[in-house]
Amino acid sequence: MGKAAVTTAVVCAAAACAVAALVVRYRMRSSGRWARVAALLKELEERCATPVGKLRQVADAMAVEMHAGLASEGGSKLKMLISYVNNLPTGEETGLFYALDLGGTNFRVLRVQLGGKERCVLKQEFEEVSIPPLLMVGGSDELFDFIASALAKFVASEGEDFHLPVGRQREIGFTFSFPVRQTSIASGTLIKWTKGFNIDETVGEDVVAELTRAIERQGLDMRVSALINDTVGTLAGGRYHDNDVVAAVILGTGTNAAYVERAHAIPKWHGLLPKSGEMVINMEWGNFRSSHLPLTDYDQALDNESLNPSEQIFEKLISGMYLGEILRRVLLRLAKEASLFGDSVPPKLEIPFMLRTPVMSAMHHDTTPDLKVVGAKLKDLLGIPNTSLKARKVVVQICDIVARRGARLAAAGVAGILKKVGRDTAVKGGESVPRTVVAMDGGLYEHYTIFRECLQATFEEMLGAEAAASVIIKLANDGSGIGAALLAASHSQYRELEQS
Ligand code: ADP
Ligand code: MG
Repeated sequence: MGKAAVTTAVVCAAAACAVAALVVRYRMRSSGRWARVAALLKELEERCATPVGKLRQVADAMAVEMHAGLASEGGSKLKMLISYVNNLPTGEETGLFYALDLGGTNFRVLRVQLGGKERCVLKQEFEEVSIPPLLMVGGSDELFDFIASALAKFVASEGEDFHLPVGRQREIGFTFSFPVRQTSIASGTLIKWTKGFNIDETVGEDVVAELTRAIERQGLDMRVSALINDTVGTLAGGRYHDNDVVAAVILGTGTNAAYVERAHAIPKWHGLLPKSGEMVINMEWGNFRSSHLPLTDYDQALDNESLNPSEQIFEKLISGMYLGEILRRVLLRLAKEASLFGDSVPPKLEIPFMLRTPVMSAMHHDTTPDLKVVGAKLKDLLGIPNTSLKARKVVVQICDIVARRGARLAAAGVAGILKKVGRDTAVKGGESVPRTVVAMDGGLYEHYTIFRECLQATFEEMLGAEAAASVIIKLANDGSGIGAALLAASHSQYRELEQS
């Protein structure tokens, strides 16, 4: 062998050794990385666990807090607000009624002609108007004038299919989904604006009076007969279609629940007992919290960095505003501590609320063998190209842990309400419990299939087959629109007249 050949051989051997060493180091690093991923996942799974025993504790705690909130003002994290709705629609309502729904950047106006005789809607029309952003932070009169003017235009377009008896005033139900201290069925003062609205002048004012004055300024002859929030509206809409509806739950951007309580079971109510013997309670259940809730470090951090620390803890575990954000926080930690997406941390993953729940839902429902949807979402929305199948599978697994925890806790909340009203068992005092329906609404419940199915399955798991057979959870997504019109009807100024 010549000198050159020897040199070449030595160099080649050295290079081969170096490559082999690199591969080994890479494999070790890679396996260490995946071991770390697995460890963090296992920890997440354990912390988020919701075995049925724990869910029962959550349901019990919900029922206990409901009692406390009804006993005295400020008696619980659950406000258990008295809605003043003591007549839910029966299906017998007749006539023309309007509704106005204000709860975000759009508002809706609606009219409905009710035909009575068991839930007969003869005709229904609506219009959606978006609110100019400047009006959300301007003066109170300007905002209400804008709304009343859109309402006046809508009333002016009323066709011949709608009939108002001669000499009667048009009546409207007002769904106003901001924190309100209700003072009667048709009055309530604004506690504070949320969701991007900020008009100091309105705070502390009666929002029905504000709306009524604006209606008068339009020269419109119309009476606001009911002021409600969206959850109470869903309950009313649900009850109109089905007499056995006793509660409503909204799972959308936020979450809330309302239910029908026996008036004499509300110690903090000092008014006259309503004829119906019933009162709808707006629970504001998003603010529920309990030591039994499975909170992780991710949840604690999300809460600390939120606009409302230590408030709305239940909401932060189960609602659409937060599920995607929890997922983002878990992924960020896996990217930082276990290099889930390679050696660098994807910058977009650092941005709060970058991952919205609809995206999470799309990834969670990905049924392609190579998880194409997950890959595309990570690339397009978070700027993470070329993810491995292994990494995509981890993403789906986290979606599953976070969504199932939320759905199972929501189911426990519903079970808590049913426990409070004595409808959580098949038999009570030797008698079988009547059919019971919970009306559900909101984009999360409607569109996140795995979430919805998990909620249903958990509910059956908690109640047992026998009870679950007579307790039905169902989507009632026309509720919040028509609900306010129905409540204007059931609390109409002409109601007594009609009944006598
Ligand atoms: P809001 O609660 O704002 O009144 P919705 O009831 O329509 O409005 O709920 C909207 C919320 O529902 C969104 O903020 C989102 O969290 C959730 N959502 C909407 N679409 C989907 C989807 N495809 N998958 C999962 N969640 C969804
Ligand atoms: Mg809504």
